[in-house]
Amino acid sequence: CGIVAYVGPRQAHEVIIKGLKRLEYRGYDSAGIALLNGGLNIYKKKGKVSDLEEHLYENNLNSNIGIGHTRWATHGEPNDENAHPHYSHSKKLAIIHNGIIENYSSLKQELINKGHTFESETDSEVFIHFIEDIQENNNCSLDEAVRLALTKVVGAYAIVIMSKDNPNLLIAARKGSPLVIGIGKDEFFLASDATPIIEYTNEVVYLNDYEIAVIDNNELKLKNTQDVVSTPYIQTLDMEL
Ligand code: GLU
Repeated sequence: CGIVAYVGPRQAHEVIIKGLKRLEYRGYDSAGIALLNGGLNIYKKKGKVSDLEEHLYENNLNSNIGIGHTRWATHGEPNDENAHPHYSHSKKLAIIHNGIIENYSSLKQELINKGHTFESETDSEVFIHFIEDIQENNNCSLDEAVRLALTKVVGAYAIVIMSKDNPNLLIAARKGSPLVIGIGKDEFFLASDATPIIEYTNEVVYLNDYEIAVIDNNELKLKNTQDVVSTPYIQTLDMEL
């Protein structure tokens, strides 16, 4: 339902929790966050963002990258396990996803046959396992694996993915669900709408359907699922808090 992600010099958890609160008006049943604070760690809870904050309390949350989500359940009941983010099979990748993957059950069965096990009942967890499986089979970059996966999934999505192996990398994509990228000085914000972003920057790029954004080493690159590269169209928002 709601997406917030960050990479840059700030504490990611502060930007993300604040942003998730700004998205609360959308409605949701659970909330979660993934950070690179020593390892790739996911914290998630059924209930309000304030319940997640309590759950985070006393953890060392020091991380300059992170992804956060408020969930409106479509596949699997609202509970801690089904909340986002979700890990890939190796737990090296984490995803947040808005939308529905319609062909998730056939993809899930194929992955189960290959030995994958799942911690949730969501379509979203299948999505990130599928991406990792493609990366392993093709021995390609993560953004190429995401692209290949998107040519095979049916449904609607806004996703953001982070990797244990690269503390500077966020990969995002959309089809049918909105996603905005805020461009700051040496920092990037991603969100399902601009409300979590505008207090930091009014320079934004609205992702189009079938577009993939790769933010790596403080640089934003765009391509589509057909592997055609495009130049980001930066808009200046005239919005006040
Ligand atoms: N289909 C996903 C789920 O049920 C995402 C729901 C959402 O958009 O929040 O977990």
